[in-house]
Amino acid sequence: MRPLRGAFVAADARNMHYDPILPNDEEWNKMRQLTEQIVREIEPRLSVHDFRMIKGAKQTRLTFDLAVPYDMTAQRQEIKQKIDAALLKDREEYTTAIRFDGKA
Ligand SMILES: [Zn+2]
Repeated sequence: MRPLRGAFVAADARNMHYDPILPNDEEWNKMRQLTEQIVREIEPRLSVHDFRMIKGAKQTRLTFDLAVPYDMTAQRQEIKQKIDAALLKDREEYTTAIRFDGKA
């Protein structure tokens, strides 16, 4: 699936009473660049794609695919912990949902 760049999606589409959510490319760009920088510092062979932000009432979920070399598959959980530790430290308004892809 190829989501719209910078699109905000309501976290709970069943809720008919949410406020309008305006696209905010500045925040999307900032958080995408920060995520890519942190991922590179953890391991240069990792790469991020399909970065999205999903606004909830209390937190914004950062959703992205992380391509992990096949020889690092066993380290996925450790990689996620390192990303969360760096990315979410002092940023309690965010949370992450990482989808792992394999790559050669
Ligand atoms: Zn993917």
